[in-house]
Amino acid sequence: MTNEYPKYWDKELETTPPEEIEELQEKKLRNQMEYVYNNSKFYHEKFNEWGVDPGDIQTIEDLSKIPFTDKPMERNTFEGGENPLGENQTASVEDIVRIHSSSGTTGPPVYFGLTEGDIKTWSNCIARCFWTAGVRPSDVVMYGMGLSMFVGGIPVLDALREIGCATVPAGAGMGSSRFLNIAKDLNANVFGLTPSFARYLIESAEDMGLDPREDLNFEKYFAGAEPGMGEEHIRREIKEGWGLESARETLGIGEMVTVLAAECEQEYGMHFMVPDLIIAELIDPDTGEVIEWEDEAEGELVYTAIDRRATPLVRFRSHDYAKVWRDDCECGRTTHKVRVIGRTDDMIIYKGVNVFPTAVREMVGQFKPKVTGYIQVVLDEPGPKVEGTPTLEVEVSDDMKESELEDLRKKIGKVLQSELLFTPEIEFVSQGSIERSKYKADLVRVED
Ligand SMILES: [Zn+2]
Repeated sequence: MTNEYPKYWDKELETTPPEEIEELQEKKLRNQMEYVYNNSKFYHEKFNEWGVDPGDIQTIEDLSKIPFTDKPMERNTFEGGENPLGENQTASVEDIVRIHSSSGTTGPPVYFGLTEGDIKTWSNCIARCFWTAGVRPSDVVMYGMGLSMFVGGIPVLDALREIGCATVPAGAGMGSSRFLNIAKDLNANVFGLTPSFARYLIESAEDMGLDPREDLNFEKYFAGAEPGMGEEHIRREIKEGWGLESARETLGIGEMVTVLAAECEQEYGMHFMVPDLIIAELIDPDTGEVIEWEDEAEGELVYTAIDRRATPLVRFRSHDYAKVWRDDCECGRTTHKVRVIGRTDDMIIYKGVNVFPTAVREMVGQFKPKVTGYIQVVLDEPGPKVEGTPTLEVEVSDDMKESELEDLRKKIGKVLQSELLFTPEIEFVSQGSIERSKYKADLVRVED
């Protein structure tokens, strides 16, 4: 049935060579810099302090003349000024039609404003991403992420409506049995959740006496809000556990847009889908130097809004550390691809080497079915710098015999050392003992 639909949401944008897209981006960038300078009290003062004239920013390369905006700076913009959205509110309350916020789990929340135009642009861009991830008008979609305040809530419902599928706004609050019962009642064939929740639900379905492959009709899955799908063992666990045709990753950031990248049918890296909305740069997280978008380059993603009216950010540090590809994809899209390896704020520095807990999980996951794929790094004190030897808890499956554990410990230790230069104390824990998350997995725990 899906064959009746066109392959691309926006064929021209998705298949035009990147150099031609850059012309469009630079035109929008020049307008946006003028707009920001003239309408944002925050950036007006910052540009003056930094000695940046908006007219100096003509090309994508020129962006490096502007210092980064980070989360603490963004947070400070809410403290001053007479506007509800603070000093970086660049549209009047009359023009702003919706306000979302960050979760506020790591400090006071920050707010994101949207004008009517911003909402239209978002809907189109998010729909483009979900279309790439395989959602079609004939689908019944169970959407199980937070709907309250979260940019992954109502904006996603708007975008799915734009696609025209039948969306079930389940949200994140209902229990797993209700979620599964509704999916079963409605014969839902698509679901969108974090990878942690998609894994958790497999176990929940089994606990309810349901066979996830037979008793539910899920065919397609799209993931978001945390890394995980780039790890082959997790994708396979979800795909096989649910008996899916496709399981694709998406990436977004509240400050910019809910979804900005999505995987195509190759399921190998996410296409950067919104070059008309955002310029993405790659930087060295330690030095701030710009890294060329060459094939297999790695760095932190930094974003600049080029078509945003309400609360636009310039060179905003995402703290997502990614690997990128530039080669042509078989799907025909010419846009670059990215895969997030981990969050720079989750990263630990052990013996001078950067280690991402997600990369550790990926390495350990290769030993399935001996292990379950759940791990936790235990530290004496908060990172990133780790002084002593960290403990790595690895969950082993119930079928493992005591006598096999030493051999497994050696093999895991060897892979971690050779691939990541990471040599933790490996501690095996029994199946089910690492806490399952319904939202995002906590891969690091601090214990005195
Ligand atoms: Zn592709």
